[in-house]
Amino acid sequence: MHVILIGCGIAGAALSLTLKRAGISHLVLEQASKLSEVGAGLQQSPNSIRVLEYLGLKDELARIGVPPAAHLFKDYKTGEVYLKTPLMPKVEEYFGAPYYHVHRADLLDIMVRAMDPSNVRLNCKVVDVKENNDGVEVHLSDGTVEKGDVLIGSDGLHSMVREKFFAPEKPRPSGCVAWRGLVPVDVARKLGFEQNSYVWMGPHRSAVLYYVCGGDLFNWVGIGPYNDNAKESWSQTGSRDAALNEYDGWNEQIRELIAGTESLFMTNMIDREPLDRWVTDRVALMGDAAHAMMPYHAQGAGQSIEDAWVLGRSLEMAEGNIPAALKKYEGLRLDRANRVLLQSRAAENLFHMSDPEEVSRRNARFARHQQEDQDGFPVGQRWLYSYDAEKAVMGTDDEWRELSW
Ligand SMILES: Cc1cc2nc3c(=O)[nH]c(=O)nc-3n(C[C@H](O)[C@H](O)[C@H](O)COP(=O)(O)OP(=O)(O)OC[C@H]3O[C@@H](n4cnc5c(N)ncnc54)[C@H](O)[C@@H]3O)c2cc1C
Repeated sequence: MHVILIGCGIAGAALSLTLKRAGISHLVLEQASKLSEVGAGLQQSPNSIRVLEYLGLKDELARIGVPPAAHLFKDYKTGEVYLKTPLMPKVEEYFGAPYYHVHRADLLDIMVRAMDPSNVRLNCKVVDVKENNDGVEVHLSDGTVEKGDVLIGSDGLHSMVREKFFAPEKPRPSGCVAWRGLVPVDVARKLGFEQNSYVWMGPHRSAVLYYVCGGDLFNWVGIGPYNDNAKESWSQTGSRDAALNEYDGWNEQIRELIAGTESLFMTNMIDREPLDRWVTDRVALMGDAAHAMMPYHAQGAGQSIEDAWVLGRSLEMAEGNIPAALKKYEGLRLDRANRVLLQSRAAENLFHMSDPEEVSRRNARFARHQQEDQDGFPVGQRWLYSYDAEKAVMGTDDEWRELSW
């Protein structure tokens, strides 16, 4: 069996590692001239860290990752904590794998270094893909054609594989933009930020903050509506004054953080409609190509990593029956990832609500949870974090299946 992957982001790299571990021949075609991630932080919860540990990255993760003590959900103006849920070390004791904050570039770097360089080819823009009865064909912009038995679209939000085989619909702009910045640890410490995951919630907008790069840098992302044009790009710069203007009336701790940020970036926030199928007999989608989602539950890359394990292991266990392997993958993954996609879309209102009555009902719910839940983990976190992709493949994930969100 020879598998061709289009795209070497976190999804493609995770699948390459899973296939390498299984000894399955494969080639990843990536249009970029080097393998690196832009953008800044990623939160990775036990459900994805568990897979990365299966892939042999445990020690490297401990080196690049920052283990936060808690999630703190706070008021945008007063800074009052409405809800505090435990992260490390309790999350590891409870769910069997750690929670880390990482820089995207660090995560991709440790994955790429574990890949076999002969499995990836750079500067390869795929312009067309074809499926026939006995294989797949991938046409590159330089006119060459690659042939294989299986084609995987790990080609991100604007996936051409998705468009060609599954849905020609355009991505859905959310109307929000993400402002982003990184500041040195001493600036963040001086402002009083500890090793937590902070979610500040205000009318129409929110801000999420945490340490990355082994604790050397502090990452912030502020999401809210923005009327001017912003590109769906990780490298578009933004003005500090414009960001301060958007965060007018917010707590000084947040405003000083923005003011102390040297380079600001902005990204248009876009997701996709859930699909009702991801596979044909020989073609499958994974990662953002299958389920690009809003980042409110910090799960896009995590779901891509779960996809990779389930897809790679299904191919490994299929004894050559590729359609059956792809069907199994879709059956195990589509419902879960679509649920996360829709919950992530819905969470925008949870974090951005502005009607005072709605806000006080939300805060009362948070307070009830804080008092009543013995372990401190909301149902959504239990459902997300307790998923074990290997148990899913082996059909032994009954405990997780009994949970609901
Ligand atoms: C503001 C923000 C915050 C986020 N925070 C989190 C978080 O905390 N935790 C989390 O888990 N997720 C988070 N995410 C989501 C996460 O970034 C994505 O889900 C993840 O990076 C998707 O990876 P991917 O490999 O599927 O896609 P991509 O990273 O987009 O990779 C696709 C690759 O395919 C290549 N490609 C595309 N087309 C072609 C072609 N025709 N030929 C060859 N190559 C091609 C591209 O060059 C690219 O390298 C966040 C997203 C945003 C926007």
